[in-house]
Order: sequence, then C-alpha cells, then structure tokens
Amino acid sequence: MKHTDTEVIRNALLVWYRRSQRDLPWRKTTDPYKIWVSEVMLQQTQVKTVIPYYLDFIRTWPTLNDLASASDQAVLKKWEGLGYYARARNLHNACIRVARDMNGDIPVTFDGFRQLPGVGDYIASAVMSIAHGLPHAVVDGNVKRVLARLHCIDIPINQSSAHKHFKTQASALLGNADPGSFNQAVMELGALVCTPKNPNCAECPIQKACKAHDRQEVAAFPKRLKKAPVPVHHIAIGVIRNNGRVLITRRQPTGLLGGLWEFPGGKVKAGESAEDACVREIKEETGLRVTIDSYLTQVKHAYTHFKIRMDVFYCSRHSDRVTLNGPVDHAWVSLEELPDFAFPKANLKFIPALEISDDKPH
Ligand code: SF4
Repeated sequence: MKHTDTEVIRNALLVWYRRSQRDLPWRKTTDPYKIWVSEVMLQQTQVKTVIPYYLDFIRTWPTLNDLASASDQAVLKKWEGLGYYARARNLHNACIRVARDMNGDIPVTFDGFRQLPGVGDYIASAVMSIAHGLPHAVVDGNVKRVLARLHCIDIPINQSSAHKHFKTQASALLGNADPGSFNQAVMELGALVCTPKNPNCAECPIQKACKAHDRQEVAAFPKRLKKAPVPVHHIAIGVIRNNGRVLITRRQPTGLLGGLWEFPGGKVKAGESAEDACVREIKEETGLRVTIDSYLTQVKHAYTHFKIRMDVFYCSRHSDRVTLNGPVDHAWVSLEELPDFAFPKANLKFIPALEISDDKPH
C-alpha cells in the first residue's frame, strides 16, 4: 500500500472515531492503572458485560496500591462471573509486584510493562498506547477482522502464525500522531461497523480503501481454520448437608478456575452413572463417604474449549473426617455465607435453588 493510502485510511478512521466512539467509563481517564484494569477485563469479554464489573472494581480499588493490598479471595470474588480467572490472579500479582518493587509506579516502557505477570502483547500495546501514546499496534479479534477485509488477507485468523502477520499490518497503519486513539478506532470499527455478520459497509469510513468491499467478497473474510468439535464433559457434584451447612472446597491456585470455591465432585467415567461418579469423586477428593439423597438439577455451561453438563445431587455424609486430595481448602458454610466465596459460573447457576435447612432427604 502507498504511503498516501495509509495516511488516508488513518485519518478517516481517526475522524470517524472522534465522532462515533461509544461513551465508555475507561475512556474518561488517562490513569494507566484504570486503563490496564479495563483492558484486562475486555480481553476475553464483551463491553456491555465489562462495564458494571469495571465500575465496581475501580470503586472498590481506585488505585494500584489499593488493589495490591486486597486479598486474593476478595479479588476473585469481584471477578466472579467474568470468567478467565487467571486474568484476575495475574493482574493482582502484577499490582503487588509494582507496589512492592517499583514504588507503585507502573512501568512506562513497553518492555518494562511486558515483564509483569499476565501482560502480553495485547495488554502492553493497549495500555502503553492509550495511557502514554507509545506507537504499539493492538491486535485483537476486531482488528484482525477489519484488516483481513481491508486487505483481503487469506491467512486464517485463528492460525497460530496469524498474530505476527496481523501485527505487521496493524503497525504499518498505526502512525505516531495518536496511536492510542488509532488503536481504539480500529477496535471500535470492528465492534460497531465491520461486525462479524452483516457489516455496515455503507457507513464505513474506510469503504473506499477496502479491498473486500471493492471485490464484493466481504463475506469471504476473515478466513478461519475449521475448529474441532467442542467436547462435552459430564460432571457429577454433591451438595453434602451437615446441620444446615454444606461442604465447599477450594481449587488449586493455578489452572482453570484456579483459587475458586466449588461443590465437590468430578467427571463421570464412561459406563459410570452420575450418582456413582458423585459418590466416588467426593470420596477421592475429600475422603468423605456419602450417599445420594436426591437429585437437584442439571446445569450446562460452555467454556472456551469444552462444555460441561453437570448433574447436582443432595448427599448425606457417613463419615466426619475431611482429607483433601486435590482441593487446597474446605469449609462447611451456611446458605447465608455462600455469597462470601467466589464460585465458578456453573456453580452460581444452581446455588440460588439450594435448600439446606436440614439433613433429611428431599
Ligand atoms: Fe469492513 Fe465493509 Fe468497512 Fe470493508 S467496507 S472495512 S468490510 S465495514
């Protein structure tokens, strides 16, 4: 592409962005901490879901030092329902490191910021360009889609080598004048105009430069590799009642849903009934012998790479001593105390239906 074409596209996008950008809470600040929090939340989650979480998070911990002083349980509780909990753990750990080792000052260079836990190319580019005007191009799903259509790029956007190619393309468009606004402009165009389905090309500020539009091939871009079908795991878990309390266990601090609390249970093996799996998993994880009292419900939930179908049972225990194998902690809690703990979304789907006033079978 010629230099002049690049200039025309850049200016058209910036003019459009200044006129059409959404009024979002993190756009009212230049505080790198707040921009960092917003970008971490936005990395895997839609804007409308993020807004209330962001406002609540910033109200609770308005500065980096406030967040660094918080307990990991409090941070996970605030993140509850937002998913991808490693994001919260990494952000918290990074803030602790900045508060402890850097006098609370977030690094002002891309490489310095990139050293912190959970700060990858996207977060570093977004925060450094928006907060400090550094010329680092962001590449997310919206950016890839816009660029794939703009240049008719054949590389599948979900191919592992795609990031490097799109980063080069995005960097070529970026310029030095206002990289923070430009990055946000491309992402905003992808969110509002160049949408995955039915893009609004008639209103697009870069329509004249768009190759896919010119060739009437918009629907053919971006290209994607076919994904393998998503596996569905069958899970069985137990609500073990004990004098008006139930047993919850805490997952290991790292890995999927790390650090969250849950009801004990696990995967149903091939040929095994959900009831047998529930009894077996509870014995393996907690050492408790239980029997099934009754069936509560089935919950379905989709994660990025798999789905779960979870059968939930009320159980009675026939032994007292909890010996953990896998979980790192346990607690017997009342219904009133359950909201104090951070749970995965799949657990939150049945918790409101719980009745645990006695130990008798339903
Ligand atoms: Fe996307 Fe259409 Fe604009 Fe091309 S013209 S960038 S396909 S909205």
